[in-house]
Amino acid sequence: MPGFEIFGAEERKQVNDVLETGVLMRYGFDGMRNNHWKAKEFESLFAKRMDAEYCQLVSSGTAALTVALASAGIGAGDEVIMPTFTFVASFESILALGAVPILVDIDETLTLDPNAVEAAITEKTKCVMPVHMCGSMADLRALKAICDKHNLLLLEDACQALGGTYQGKPLGSYGDLGCFSFDYVKTITCGEGGAIITNNKEYAKNADHYQDHGHDHVGNDRGAESHPFLGYNFRISELNAAVGLAQLDKLDGILNTQKDNYKILREALASIEGVTFRKVPEGGEENYSFLSFFLPNEGLTKKAHKALSDAGVDAYFYWYTNNWHYINGWEHLRNQKSLGNLSSEVKNQMQDLNNTDFSKSHAVMSRTISSLIKIGWTEKEVQKRAEAMKQAIISVL
Ligand SMILES: *Cc1c(COP(=O)(O)O)cnc(C)c1O
Repeated sequence: MPGFEIFGAEERKQVNDVLETGVLMRYGFDGMRNNHWKAKEFESLFAKRMDAEYCQLVSSGTAALTVALASAGIGAGDEVIMPTFTFVASFESILALGAVPILVDIDETLTLDPNAVEAAITEKTKCVMPVHMCGSMADLRALKAICDKHNLLLLEDACQALGGTYQGKPLGSYGDLGCFSFDYVKTITCGEGGAIITNNKEYAKNADHYQDHGHDHVGNDRGAESHPFLGYNFRISELNAAVGLAQLDKLDGILNTQKDNYKILREALASIEGVTFRKVPEGGEENYSFLSFFLPNEGLTKKAHKALSDAGVDAYFYWYTNNWHYINGWEHLRNQKSLGNLSSEVKNQMQDLNNTDFSKSHAVMSRTISSLIKIGWTEKEVQKRAEAMKQAIISVL
C-alpha cells in the first residue's frame, strides 16, 4: 500500500497551488483562493473513478467510517457486525457513536464469514460492516442477500482495497456506503485523509453536514448557515486534499505495478506443495496490495515466519500473534478499557470477548502470512524476494 513511495513533483505542484493562495480551508474564502478547490475537485474525480454518485472527503479513514455510520442514522445501542480481523478503526468508529460492535468470525476470504454474520443478527442489528483486508474482498453477494433479507445497511470498509473490483464494480461501491483511507501507508495517500462514497442522496447530504459541525452549506455566509442536526469536525484540509489529487492521478499506474509484482511472488509460492492462497470470491479482482497465503498448520506457519525473518525478508506479516490487526491483539477492547465510562448500551450489549468462541477465525489466521507488495521494487528485486521466500518456506515444510 505504497502511495508514499512515489511522492514527487506532481504532489508538490498541487500543494504549491494551495500554498500560493494561503487558503488552507476547503470552504469559503472564494475571492482569495484563485479558484483552487482541491477537496471539491478530488470528490468529483473520486466519485467518478469509484462509480458512485457522491463522495465526501474527511480527515481520515476512521472519520470516514464514523461519518458513514452517522449519516445512515446509526446511534446508541445499534449493533454493527464486524470481523475479528481488521484495523482497530472498525470498533473505534462504532463505539464513537455509542453503537455496539459485534465481532464475528472470518473465513478463508480473510473477511466476514456470511454464516457467522447471519447467526449474529438480533433485533438491534442495523449494519453489516465487511472489511476488505489486504487488498481483497468479502463475499459481497452473500452479505448483500443477508442485508436485504433482514433490512440491514451494508457498509464496505475498502480502506485496504482501493482499486479492487467485485462483479466489475469498484470495491466500496457495491454496498450502501463505502469507506476509504488515504493515510500515509495506503494505496494512495493524502498524508491523512479518508472518503465516503454512496449513491444515496440522503446519506450524502447527511455526511456533508455531519463532518462539518452540521453546517448546511447553503449560501455564502458560513456564520449565518443553519444546522439541521448535530455534527462534529471531521473536515479535511485543502493541503491534504491537494496531495490526494496528485496521487489519484497515479492510481492506475500503482495498481498495474502491484499486479506485476504480485504475480511474480505468487508464481514462486504456488510451486510449493503445502502453500495455498486466500480465497477471492468469484467475480472479484484484488487490488494486489498484499499476497496472503496459508501453510498447513499453526506450527509450520510459525516456523515459516521465523525462517522468513532469518532470511532477511522484510514487509511480511503474521497477524495472528504479531500484530494488532487481529482480536488477539485487542486487549483494550476485550477488557473494555476506556478513559471514561462507556455508555450503558455498550456495556450491556457487548459480547464477553474474552470468552467468545472465535476458533474458526483462529484456525484461519494462525495459518496466514501476508507479504506487502511494494511498487518501488525492480523486477530483479521481486525475483530475488520470491526466491528468498520460496527457499525459507520450503526449508520448514
Ligand atoms: C487504515 C485503515 C482504516 C483507518 O484509516 P485511517 O485513515 O488511518 O484512520 C480503517 N480500516 C482499515 C481496514 C484500514 O486499513
